[in-house]
Amino acid sequence: MRVVVGIDDTDSHGGGCTTYVGYVLAREALRRWGPGAFRDFPRLIRLNPNVPFKTRGNAAVALDLEVPEGDVEEVWRLALEVVKQYARREGKTDPGVAMAVGEVPERAKLLYRMALTQVVSLSAAERAGVRTWGGRGKIGAVAAVGAELPKSTFELLAYRSGERAPMPRQLVEAMEALTFPFTFHNLDEDRVLIQPRGPDPVYYGIRGLTPHHLLYALRLLEAWGFKPSGWVIYRTNQAVDAHLELGVFFDEPLPYSFYRVRGIVAEARRVRGRHLIGKLDNGVVFVAYRHLGRLASELERCVGCDVILYGGLKPRRGGLYLYVERAYILGRYVKVKTRCPYCGGSLESLGRGRGWACRRCGMVFRTAAVKWLYDTSARRLLLPRPGEWRHLLKPPEIDASIANFFTPRDVEWIG
Ligand SMILES: [Zn+2]
Repeated sequence: MRVVVGIDDTDSHGGGCTTYVGYVLAREALRRWGPGAFRDFPRLIRLNPNVPFKTRGNAAVALDLEVPEGDVEEVWRLALEVVKQYARREGKTDPGVAMAVGEVPERAKLLYRMALTQVVSLSAAERAGVRTWGGRGKIGAVAAVGAELPKSTFELLAYRSGERAPMPRQLVEAMEALTFPFTFHNLDEDRVLIQPRGPDPVYYGIRGLTPHHLLYALRLLEAWGFKPSGWVIYRTNQAVDAHLELGVFFDEPLPYSFYRVRGIVAEARRVRGRHLIGKLDNGVVFVAYRHLGRLASELERCVGCDVILYGGLKPRRGGLYLYVERAYILGRYVKVKTRCPYCGGSLESLGRGRGWACRRCGMVFRTAAVKWLYDTSARRLLLPRPGEWRHLLKPPEIDASIANFFTPRDVEWIG
């Protein structure tokens, strides 16, 4: 019997705790039902990170299992036991568990797509047609059960029992040199990105396109003394733009949703802290943080540009501000001088209010010799610098199409 069980532990630090609880649950399920019970790798599902009361991560975990029909209750009991035990230790969490038996209901699949971009209510999660337990964590748990991954990547999460020894940059550079692009998002210039800084149990996390490259990277780091107390490879919706491709978008701007809007940049200026604040011709106010790098500086120079902006909507000063995470510049309206319609010669001004004269044939025109052109030469996508990428964002040059080729039967995936 197919059983998909999801867990979420809402107050966790960057999702680290949720993935750890998922690791413990996967280990227990493996011990009871063996590797053949795993229809897929454990799944790490990232959701709309703009939801309030969530950390940057907003992660939930699901296991897709095949167990004897008589053991379905045992899966549920085990999940509750592991989550409760961990929640007690953490103190301040508000966890949730969800489970679908047999086929995953369509309503749970829709809830996942909503949770990628919107704020989903607890009651919507409870009405998604799957069994639930707990508090706010039910939302992420149901979304993880309903998650479909037409595209995916992998992340190897390694856990620590003691202190987190900081990894030398040179080692991560060596790992990247040996494995990129099959592992990615390891560094942002000098900054090591694979080690979190928070108090969560994660030692390091390596993102990649195949489980084999992640194992290779793990062995390399272990050989240099960075041996975790345990590790697991998750299949994940990270780094494939799942929110853009599967998420639900509304025209209406809603607080804390991931929003998409097209408009012409009417103004853009730096404010206190050098952050960029601007306005589109349709009235949408946007903010681009200084540390996004080129994304902020290019938008600053882009008054008159026709853009599509993506980002989280947050209430500020009685309105909603769009915190930009990605921008497409489609084109730019630029002023150009018209030429003489008769001979093509250039025009010169005869002075204020007196019109224009053709330099070549002398024809005089009354109307202003200026028109707007739509210039598409600067058409491009603007992304934040790598250290500012959020989990769902697809890094440029990463092609995730090979991840679905692998199953947990091909490779060692937990240790
Ligand atoms: Zn002329």
